[in-house]
Amino acid sequence: METFLKQLNEAQLAPTLQKDGAMIVIAGAGSGKTRVLTYRIAYLMHQGVDPFNILALTFTNKAAREMKSRIATIVGESEAKNLWMGTFHSVFARILRYEADRLGYPSNFTIYDTQDSQRLISSIIKELKLDKDVYKYKQIYSRISSYKNSLITVKAYFQNPELIEADAMARRPRLGDIYKEYVDRCFKAGAMDFDDLLLKTNELLTRFPDVLAKYQDRFRYILVDEYQDTNHSQYLIVRALSDRFQNICVVGDDAQSIYAFRGANINNILNFQRDYDDVKVFRLEQNYRSTKNIVNAANSIIDKNQTKLDKVVWTANEEGAKIKVNRLMTDGDEGRFVASSIFENKMQNQMHNKDFAVLYRTNAQSRAIEDALRKRDIPYRIFGGLSFYQRKEIKDVLSYLRLVINPADEEALKRIINFPPRGIGQTTIDRLIVAANGYDRSIFEILQNLNKVEINLNSGTRNKLQDFTTMIESFQVMNKSANAFELAEHVTKVTGILKEFNKDGTPEGIARMENIEELLNGMKDFVEEQKELADATGSLTEFLEDVALATDLDNEKGDIDRVSLMTIHLAKGLEFPYVYIVGLEEDLFPSAMSMNTRSELEEERRLFYVALTRAEKQAYLTYALSRYRWGKLIDSDPSRFIEEIDDEYLEILTPIEERRFNPMLDANIFGDVEPNKIRYKPAKTIRKKTEVPKKVINTPKNLKPLSQTNGNTNLFDSKLVVGNVVKHIRFGKGEVLKIEGKGADIKAEIDFENGGVKKLLLRFAKLEIL
Ligand code: ATP
Ligand code: MG
Repeated sequence: METFLKQLNEAQLAPTLQKDGAMIVIAGAGSGKTRVLTYRIAYLMHQGVDPFNILALTFTNKAAREMKSRIATIVGESEAKNLWMGTFHSVFARILRYEADRLGYPSNFTIYDTQDSQRLISSIIKELKLDKDVYKYKQIYSRISSYKNSLITVKAYFQNPELIEADAMARRPRLGDIYKEYVDRCFKAGAMDFDDLLLKTNELLTRFPDVLAKYQDRFRYILVDEYQDTNHSQYLIVRALSDRFQNICVVGDDAQSIYAFRGANINNILNFQRDYDDVKVFRLEQNYRSTKNIVNAANSIIDKNQTKLDKVVWTANEEGAKIKVNRLMTDGDEGRFVASSIFENKMQNQMHNKDFAVLYRTNAQSRAIEDALRKRDIPYRIFGGLSFYQRKEIKDVLSYLRLVINPADEEALKRIINFPPRGIGQTTIDRLIVAANGYDRSIFEILQNLNKVEINLNSGTRNKLQDFTTMIESFQVMNKSANAFELAEHVTKVTGILKEFNKDGTPEGIARMENIEELLNGMKDFVEEQKELADATGSLTEFLEDVALATDLDNEKGDIDRVSLMTIHLAKGLEFPYVYIVGLEEDLFPSAMSMNTRSELEEERRLFYVALTRAEKQAYLTYALSRYRWGKLIDSDPSRFIEEIDDEYLEILTPIEERRFNPMLDANIFGDVEPNKIRYKPAKTIRKKTEVPKKVINTPKNLKPLSQTNGNTNLFDSKLVVGNVVKHIRFGKGEVLKIEGKGADIKAEIDFENGGVKKLLLRFAKLEIL
């Protein structure tokens, strides 16, 4: 046996060595599914399969890169290079470029990201004069997206009375019209959105049998990771491509299906055996990632779900520490706890920052964690916020470049026709859109033919538009001889974008300039890399495609030692020695929006299972009794998921915040709330936990009345005067407008930078006079 195969156990070897046929590996977290895919590819190549004939689809581009470099160490760099590996979107974007003309698209089509799509929908809603409060553009976007992922085209939509009625019932009778206009406009702009990359691939493979045959012949071996989260559109592509040779290997875990809300269909995994002849089913049971405690706790959670395939997961790893559960008073305290715990673990156990991950249900939760990490000087990285390429200044520059490649790109044009400001107003842009729709041309074509079309513009405006058009045309000329970097550098100078951001000298402006510089550096690297590749093609087009499909996970450079912060959805497939799962509160996790049906709740539970199974050595679960959400302080109860874990795997920490609990200090957090209104919710005890120390159960009864405490009750009552500028921990700087009341009741009305005018009771508000 080849030596590299010794790194697999027997159960893993079976699917690895099974060269041909359809097979599915269903197994729990950490059991080596991704490892099997990786080694299987290496083994296929070892058996003489041409890497050109292998297609591997992963959930992130980062996962694909990691797999590829692992394979390269086994079979050699040059062989591994020829493998087709990546996400569905990146692989099929590439194929669509080759075949674009079949579908009437230019091969340099633009890829609209979510922001572009939503802007276009928003503009269509306005053009159709619909009420934007009824037709919320984000909702419309996700509706259209789910139609596309179910392969419901505009035509199919209008032929389906049920869908039409459902939208009418939802008070959106014009949804079909928006959908149609959106699709027409994307087509005219030579643009595909993310969902089109799958939808159009399906169209390509069904309408053109010769194209299908070509790719079936090419991809003789197909492998799919995280199969449980494929949607219908992806499912059909895989089915079509694998139909001829039926050499298909998918791996997944139904217990980790967490994208149903975006159309993932768990039935794809459940029905796999029906779709192919003679399907071999493999199971892996041994988890190599986590301690016994974590594996068993995760099993006890997922047991509560009714809809699941029966699976065994065990580990030979050490028992490990219990999962630590901690209750905090506020989200701020939670952040501070996480930061100090990371700090302690680093010191005590010689860990690095990159050994820690903080996982949360919603992106908004990251702020409190970030603040606390910053205060402790712990470097961190947030995944899943805006990707670098979606930042305003970067999109501005990229929009110029997109327009050079594809002048029909409407969203790019609208974005920069008046940025930096050149006196072209919204009315003019609206008129251009109307003209473009009227003549059925792109806006840029209207601009190039201003004198020939009927459009009401004064001569000043005409000149400005003419200058803009000439400038873009000059970039197009330059693009024929210059490389992507040279062009981009020229564009940033000539358009005045750099100057625009430099103008104000604010830290934001400087940061934006630095980002543009970073973009240029990236392009330079890209150009250098391209020089080395023999088959490099139109480089700016390729650069823009990479950029459009880059997710935040992909921008990571090297092995940077930072704590990772991300939503649980993004953490799928990853692993970290220490994992903090924060915000385990009812209505947050499980999310308030997911409590209506059992199946929604079960998806939340699977999400929790995914979170917990990311941890190798130690997991922490935290919740806060009150938290700022939507600008309000909300009381919360601990998540049912904590209760669902068997007690024996948990260690309940004595909440640090309560050991040093001081009502005066805490009252300061509330600032504007009067003492008798400060309500500490009786911390709902985790019912079954016998080991909860008595003092932890802190009910309002055992709080001393505020008057008996020795806080600084007279903090400000004589010092503060109208006109003072003060600083508050939460609201920032503010000016005192009014002072009223006496003694302990003195209140001040203060106009804060962050939060507007507030009336604060001075004996509680922790203010600093500046
Ligand atoms: P997930 O469900 O989270 O995606 P997975 O089933 O894909 O997990 P892998 O990521 O492939 O699991 O493996 C989990 C960890 O266990 C990895 O660190 C991997 O290197 C290690 N591992 C897997 N199999 C073995 C083995 N036979 N010997 C040693 N380590 C292994
Ligand atoms: Mg995996």
